Amino acid sequence: MSSPILLWFRQDLRLYDNSALLEAVKQNTPILPVYILDDDNADEFKLGGASRLWLHHSLNALNKNLNGHLHVYKGDAKNIIPKIIENTGIKTVYWNRCYEPWRIQRDKAIKSTLSEQDIEVKSFNSSLLWEPWQIQTQSKTPYKVFTPFYKKGCLAEPPPPKPQSIPKDIEFVSDHHSFETELDNLGLTPKIEWDKQMLEHWDISEDGAQATFKTFLESGLKGYKEKRDNPHLSNVSRLSPYLHFGEISPRDIWHTARDYAKAHDIPERDIDHFCSELAWREFSYHLLYHFPDLPRKNLQDKFDKFPWSDPDAKKLKAWQQGQTGYPIIDAAMRELWQTGYMHNRCRMIVASFLVKNMLVHWHHGEDWFWDCLFDADLANNSASWQWVAGCGADAAPYFRIFNPILQSAKFDPEGIYIKKHVPELSQLPAKHIHAPWEAPKDILQKAGIELGQEYPKPILDLKATRERALDAYEHIKQSD
Ligand code: FAD
Repeated sequence: MSSPILLWFRQDLRLYDNSALLEAVKQNTPILPVYILDDDNADEFKLGGASRLWLHHSLNALNKNLNGHLHVYKGDAKNIIPKIIENTGIKTVYWNRCYEPWRIQRDKAIKSTLSEQDIEVKSFNSSLLWEPWQIQTQSKTPYKVFTPFYKKGCLAEPPPPKPQSIPKDIEFVSDHHSFETELDNLGLTPKIEWDKQMLEHWDISEDGAQATFKTFLESGLKGYKEKRDNPHLSNVSRLSPYLHFGEISPRDIWHTARDYAKAHDIPERDIDHFCSELAWREFSYHLLYHFPDLPRKNLQDKFDKFPWSDPDAKKLKAWQQGQTGYPIIDAAMRELWQTGYMHNRCRMIVASFLVKNMLVHWHHGEDWFWDCLFDADLANNSASWQWVAGCGADAAPYFRIFNPILQSAKFDPEGIYIKKHVPELSQLPAKHIHAPWEAPKDILQKAGIELGQEYPKPILDLKATRERALDAYEHIKQSD
């Protein structure tokens, strides 16, 4: 039997349809499963608080599935991997690819060092449906518009491979090394206990991912196209954190959802729309791969001259804490704080409010989401903030400024979502829930609300701030 294989788990925290694991098992040799917490190298995009919490629980679950054989380390992977090799005499290293620019650089450096020592390194795709470099325009350039990216690029490629089962009889290396650490010593859980309520909403494990997916197939997929915009309904999958950390494979989602739709008469518009949302994730990765400055630099450089205002600390805090006086904004920001997740429609509304009505640079929103979202994902988060701010690829035109009152009335007409997350408004009739400051005094009184006491007055005037934003846009339009 040949020497063991070092299997480096990263954003693929699962056994099902894990390409590197499958290939490693095929070599008929024991496996040393390793996780290294090394985000100290990640510049300003070190793991946020919510991501750290998720990772802790996910690693725990993975370790259980590996019968306690996960070897955990903390520090620079560029030093740790060679040290493991030195200690074990391992000659082969497998991993699944990651796509953050700092991770790509790190992996290239490790591959090059190991190759010089005649260590075989193989990497695989287990995070994306199509590799970001695989999809190109006819002139061999990256796509910057979603529809041709998806229709002429992705859909013209062979379909993603079918998911593969968990290999049987995995043999592990069982001895541990002195420089390993314990999962509990990674410092991923918060020192102050803010996590209990958030955790109630999730089963952070590969099984949890599969259960969430099953629930979505059975009760969310039918009607997805129309109802995915309603935050009070359960027609979205909530799979984003599992996709980010890899407790579920996108190939599994793609094929299983299509097979399920066929077998259960789910209308084509629903399954097609769901698959196209998965492709938006692919588009973000495509953009990040080709434009590695995406997290910090406007994709359209005319926005470099945009007159963002310095954030008013008090107002920024009101936005972060869900105290703006606009119920849909406050419900969404509190959903984020309470559950580590926010519905996509609400992400667009709160982002538009921040970058357009408050005229605050999108980096501030990006950073807050990065810290609070369980699904915080460098590609999706930066591409989406740029999309809302108007400076990204295929972006919403800048002058499309969401009106939170109209959005709220359209997508949460009865105020069910609002009342769930802003309970102080729970007695207010639906007619007034979207703009409580316009409600007659006696109605507010009956609902037990005094504005400025139980619930804040609006922190800004929508009409005036909309005009200010459009004026600001004129400034860069003229300098085009
Ligand atoms: P579903 O509707 O069930 O979609 C299934 C999957 O498709 C999602 O899990 C996701 O992987 C992908 N997807 C869906 N919508 C989008 C989209 N608009 N862009 C890219 N991929 C999409 N998504 C993240 O995963 N991480 C982030 O950090 C993130 N930040 C965002 C910030 C802003 C300002 C906005 C407007 C959107 C952001 N999104 C982000 C995209 C989107 O909101 C989430 O992917 C989606 O809400 C996740 O919920 P779901 O799994 O229930 O989605």
